[in-house]
Amino acid sequence: DSATNLLRITEAHIGYGKVEAVRGVTLDVAENEIVTIIGANGAGKTTLLNATMGILPLKGGANFAGSDITRLDIEDRVMAGLSLVPEHRELFAAMNVEDNLRLGAFRNSRAESAQSLERVYTLFPRLKERRRQLAGTLSGGEQQMLAMGRALMGTPKLLMLDEPSLGLAPIIVADIFRTIGELRASGVSVLLVEQNAQAALQIANRAYVMELGEFVLQGTAKDIAGNARVAASYLGLG
Ligand code: ATP
Repeated sequence: DSATNLLRITEAHIGYGKVEAVRGVTLDVAENEIVTIIGANGAGKTTLLNATMGILPLKGGANFAGSDITRLDIEDRVMAGLSLVPEHRELFAAMNVEDNLRLGAFRNSRAESAQSLERVYTLFPRLKERRRQLAGTLSGGEQQMLAMGRALMGTPKLLMLDEPSLGLAPIIVADIFRTIGELRASGVSVLLVEQNAQAALQIANRAYVMELGEFVLQGTAKDIAGNARVAASYLGLG
């Protein structure tokens, strides 16, 4: 495989006090790749994303863009090119769309910010139309777009998305997933945590199936989608 590796998590153990939520997980994301982690509630997917971002401590290895990031804090990981859109989006409800976006660009110069803003508005024309609207009054789908747009303002190399489809109508989910595909085409890799396994496996290059803190299956998204056990447990085809 000639793909250039971007993120490598090696033998990661992540816990909350004495409870180990992630147990010995190894994961790779290459450049220009969409990788998805699917699994039931409580499998440990959010925990793994949070530890990769530096929000939780991780025992094991974390390598990104050729550097060891195991000991870096969140801000240095952002600087290195990592970005996370958390499950609950965490927007500033009383601020408008554009101000929320500008907050995502704190590490940029003014010229870079203007460029990032144009790029985000090209990706999400809806956000441009609504740039003066308060974030708290946006629809669920628009809020997800804004959370993704804000994460993209710092021009990350890898965007991590935690359940982007949560609570959204199917037509909006299709929209969000189309944008994820456009991101890959523009050179941003994506690590996607989803309970909507169907949609995730359709767009991803590779997939990991997580159960009780461990990866129990991994492979190309096509192979995972065709796996009988995955079909029964996660695709409702049992
Ligand atoms: P979900 O889709 O429900 O978020 P998940 O696969 O992302 O599921 P995690 O949220 O990572 O799963 O949770 C993994 C395990 O860690 C669960 O058993 C959960 O109860 C536990 N856990 C998560 N957060 C905490 C916390 N702050 N303190 C203690 N235990 C936690």
